Amino acid sequence: MVQGAASAIDSVREKWTVLPPLELRGVGTSLVESLPSYVSRVLATTGIGAGHLANSLGLDLPVRLRRLGAFLTTKDSLLMEGAVDQLERLTGARDLRQGTFWALSSILSAINQSTRKKVPRRWCSICYSEWSGKSYEPLAWTVDLLRTCPKHGCLLSSACPSCGRAQRSCLSERHRRLCHTCKADLSASVAWTKPHPFLQWVENQVLDLIEFCATPRAQPVPYEVFLEFVQGLDRTIGGRRGGALGDQVKQCAAGARRRRARVSMRSLINLCAIQGISVGEFLAAPRETSGPMLFDTWGGLSYMPLPAPWQAQNIYVASRCLKDFLRVRPAYLPPISLLLRRLHVQLLATRDVAEEAYDFYEDAYSVQGDKPTQRKLRSAYLNAMNAMSAKKLHETGDLDHIVRKVADRAGVALAIAKHVVRSAAVVREV
Ligand SMILES: [Zn+2]
Ligand SMILES: [Zn+2]
Repeated sequence: MVQGAASAIDSVREKWTVLPPLELRGVGTSLVESLPSYVSRVLATTGIGAGHLANSLGLDLPVRLRRLGAFLTTKDSLLMEGAVDQLERLTGARDLRQGTFWALSSILSAINQSTRKKVPRRWCSICYSEWSGKSYEPLAWTVDLLRTCPKHGCLLSSACPSCGRAQRSCLSERHRRLCHTCKADLSASVAWTKPHPFLQWVENQVLDLIEFCATPRAQPVPYEVFLEFVQGLDRTIGGRRGGALGDQVKQCAAGARRRRARVSMRSLINLCAIQGISVGEFLAAPRETSGPMLFDTWGGLSYMPLPAPWQAQNIYVASRCLKDFLRVRPAYLPPISLLLRRLHVQLLATRDVAEEAYDFYEDAYSVQGDKPTQRKLRSAYLNAMNAMSAKKLHETGDLDHIVRKVADRAGVALAIAKHVVRSAAVVREV
């Protein structure tokens, strides 16, 4: 009898978990739930706070909440793995890492979805308006290569329909569907877009990647799989094709060999597009799909606008501009989007070919001042660029006059205006 009770207690203890045993939804499908969505369901079900959860996950004070954020955005893969292990122990759920890009964590860089460091939260208005107890936010919403809701086909939103503000990430299920500034209903307006065959192809590749990550497996894909693929491409394309396209493959292969450099999701899809294969084909047979046989069929050419051939050239010009500009150590750095505006390039694609310079620039840019200061500097810079093109600088040569004008119009000190005007002059040269 006593023994029976003891074994019953043991079996209860085995099944008992600290947190309710919620399962991650959509495992094995491209609509898998994201880890933050899962965590907000856990918080809503148990009523515990985010700080308490961070404690239980072993994230240390005083940075535990920041680290909870880092864990949820999965920027830090080691932290993520440790915390996911612990969360699985607490909830008894087994497949939580399938709600992240863990399966491809050795190949894809952490910043794999956006050019911005802070990716704005995105949502589907129809999904929000039909929200029920069975709803969750899919991992797919976090990838900005995906423009539309995989379920409804409408555009994903990233701004409040009423006040236009971006929404911060928020773990409260109750507050998530309301604007954090004006409290408007975020599901209020739905926007649609015309279907575009190439973008549709890209979206399908993103969904395939997500389905791959959503499928339970014992280990992440080893880096060698990517290395082998990109070296094969280097042999077949890099060697036989000059110009920006060949360069791009060569550079990628060199980075993979020397630094085991991870790539953005955009780069990975682009490499597949160059070779004319789908991401699924690459993952299934990396060596075979990098071979010259596929090069001869060159089916990928029709998919090339990622970047388009004309853009690939501009991207290289952009990366050179960026490096040349940094080399002269300008006193003021304008926003990178303004610096490269005339080249009409996708910023993320530029980052792909000049990662170090790009990140250095972004960091140096961000320490130039708080938001109001940056706004003033930006306005001074735009004024300076404007004055220089209008005045035909090489004719008048009167920098002092422009400095005074810029200081006046943008409301900055003369010394600052001088720095900004000098930088603008360098930009014009570069
Ligand atoms: Zn939807
Ligand atoms: Zn609002």
